[in-house]
Amino acid sequence: MARRTKIVATIGPSSDSAPVLRKMVEAGMDVARIGLAHGSIDDALERYHTVRGVAAEMDRPIGIMVDLPGPKVRLGNFGNRPIELTSGATTTLVPGKLTSEADEIGVDYEDLLGDIHPGDCLAVGDGSVTLRIESVEQGSARAFVAHGGPVQGRPGLHVPSDRLAITAPTPEDLTKLDAFVEVGVDMVALSFVRSGHDVRKVGTEPHPRGPLLVAKIETRAAVENLGGIIESSGAIMVARGDLGSELGIEELPHLQKQIIRDCIALGKPVITATQMFESMVTSPAPTRAEVSDVANAVFDGTSAVMLSAESAVGHDPVNTVATMARVADRADQEFDYDAWARRIRLLRSGAVGAGDARITDAMTGATWRAATEMGVSAIICISESGFTVRSIARFRPQMPIIAFSPQERTSRQLSLSWGATPIDAPHRVDDMAAMDELVCMARDRGFVRSGEVVAVLAGAGGGGVQAADVLRMTHVP
Ligand code: PEP
Repeated sequence: MARRTKIVATIGPSSDSAPVLRKMVEAGMDVARIGLAHGSIDDALERYHTVRGVAAEMDRPIGIMVDLPGPKVRLGNFGNRPIELTSGATTTLVPGKLTSEADEIGVDYEDLLGDIHPGDCLAVGDGSVTLRIESVEQGSARAFVAHGGPVQGRPGLHVPSDRLAITAPTPEDLTKLDAFVEVGVDMVALSFVRSGHDVRKVGTEPHPRGPLLVAKIETRAAVENLGGIIESSGAIMVARGDLGSELGIEELPHLQKQIIRDCIALGKPVITATQMFESMVTSPAPTRAEVSDVANAVFDGTSAVMLSAESAVGHDPVNTVATMARVADRADQEFDYDAWARRIRLLRSGAVGAGDARITDAMTGATWRAATEMGVSAIICISESGFTVRSIARFRPQMPIIAFSPQERTSRQLSLSWGATPIDAPHRVDDMAAMDELVCMARDRGFVRSGEVVAVLAGAGGGGVQAADVLRMTHVP
């Protein structure tokens, strides 16, 4: 069985050449993530076009996600060599200063001094270094290095999000977004959203015409407004880096489970992110704890697992993707499919939506039941927007989901969906003959064999219904 859990890999200096990207696709990368917090838009666009070129040449529907920085506060540049911030030392934070030294640290947020108070503990980067504010003065703040460690480049400074005067998306986010909407990006991750309203402010066309909006859950407010954010978004990222700084690392495993459960109930893909294989930035193998973290995210039901620095600046991004693919694949085999299906029937009862969405909900439930009872070799799902595929994926069926769409962007957006193998359909499907043609196409591509029974689920568009309204059980010719 092909791997069901998807892999998102962040592209950076270690991985942005076509030969490396090609090997990362071969190793199992499903979605390429391009961070927009550092570097110019032109550099990011160049990465975007290189990934597109590699995917086209390999004929693979690789999704591309750009990640907008949001109101993230960053420290002035420490340079390329690690500089030690020593535990017990004091230092000065200077808003507006572009560079940093151990005793005088620049901060790129001019209004910082209005948003912080003496006694605040601010995490640097993903929290390995913490600064406690001692006093706020004219033009600067004194800080005590509560936990020291090496810093380099422009690490983030975590200011509690409910203090920050600026909200997501920032004007800078919207400028960057425009450049990528223009070239047809598949997914856009939104940092530091606090509510469904922040997601709706992005204002792009609904997917698949516009990008799939991926809300990163990394603020206290986002956890409190989780339901509204999930409903307003196309997918969710459990952004454990900033979320751990904001709510405490001991909360992370529980929040991860809760967010994944709520996303699946609403049929939204969910990515588990940050430090999954952190040690592989420098090491050829992950730690045992990291392997368990990836496997446990799979058992929690995550749709995708993500590599950050490991694939962007790590020493061997191809090996990192291949290792993650092996671990996820093995965990997929142990996933408790039966228990999940019993659970999802309860979870979805409160979350089925209205109108034609209820038809898709009922039909995907019926498809899962019939496919499981019959032990079919695949569910062939034909979908314009990908909604039906995401809806059937909620049940985590044991058999592959072959996802045909006449919209190329839908196929690339489905690269994030659990269990789905996206394939471009040559045309829309509105009659039985067109369905049969796609069954033969799945056979010719080696996904199913002659004589096997498959379930075919499609929206035939009859009677004005905009939903998956036809289910067939058929023998592969
Ligand atoms: C995170 O905070 O976990 C995250 C994914 O965001 P970023 O990598 O953009 O800081």
